Amino acid sequence: MTDLLFAATPTPVLPGLAAGYPVGRIFCVGRNYAAHAAEMGIAVDREKPFYFTKSATATVLSGETKPYPPGTTNYHYEMELVVAIGAPAFKVSVNDAMSAVIAYGCGLDMTRRDLQLSERAHQRPWDLGKDVENSAVFGPLSPVEALGEIGPQRIWLTLNGEVKQDATLSELIWSVPEIISHLSGFYHLRPGDLIMTGTPAGVGPVLPGDRLEGGIDGLEPLSLSIGPAD
Ligand code: MN
Repeated sequence: MTDLLFAATPTPVLPGLAAGYPVGRIFCVGRNYAAHAAEMGIAVDREKPFYFTKSATATVLSGETKPYPPGTTNYHYEMELVVAIGAPAFKVSVNDAMSAVIAYGCGLDMTRRDLQLSERAHQRPWDLGKDVENSAVFGPLSPVEALGEIGPQRIWLTLNGEVKQDATLSELIWSVPEIISHLSGFYHLRPGDLIMTGTPAGVGPVLPGDRLEGGIDGLEPLSLSIGPAD
């Protein structure tokens, strides 16, 4: 065994199941609710889904306070349904895709909106806008049975107690099995992979001192407090 020059970065672990869920990769679906695509000024693309990723090290557990990040003056919340992969999936059909899912959770895809939009305008990657430190916030996971068949469940977010996002999962453009089937054509999905499935309309900015709370019917809620600027 070779000594390490420095301590390896710890793997984030999500609570909620019989044992901890170590986070591997974080895939995020873009524009998966029509009303949100519209508020972003983009027509819905039903041809195929698209993705960006966040580093596992961006993981934050619900209930924490994290600083307002550097490099932005327009830091946004995006409340999302999170799918936790619990079995390998590669080139799976839509019909077989759900056997790869072990759990669901609530997630926040925190975003430097100003940088995402300027990168988008220049046809550049979104990393500075999306792969933000402390920007992948997860509530405790729940087994798939807790959510049941996806459809009428309400997904909501409040900012300092005021409802900002309020939709139902039936508004998802790409369904969970469609996303898994498509994504598994490009990646060997494996246990530890999380998929943030996109946000409903109503995204907006936060400021230091703000508190976000979000939930999805049947799942454990989440919260995040925004600390002073980093
Ligand atoms: Mn998002």
